[in-house]
Amino acid sequence: MTELLLNNLVCHELGHSVGFNDGGTSSTSCITGGNNNKLDPYEIRAINLQY
Ligand SMILES: [Zn+2]
Repeated sequence: MTELLLNNLVCHELGHSVGFNDGGTSSTSCITGGNNNKLDPYEIRAINLQY
């Protein structure tokens, strides 16, 4: 597994730990289909509102 995919996997699973569901957010973030290691700005705002 490449470093990019490993980082993306961690990003995805951490997203679950803070309440995001598969497919529930932006299609370009690591939570959904985007293999880019990144959370969407919408997701970052949602996390910051919670914690
Ligand atoms: Zn998942």
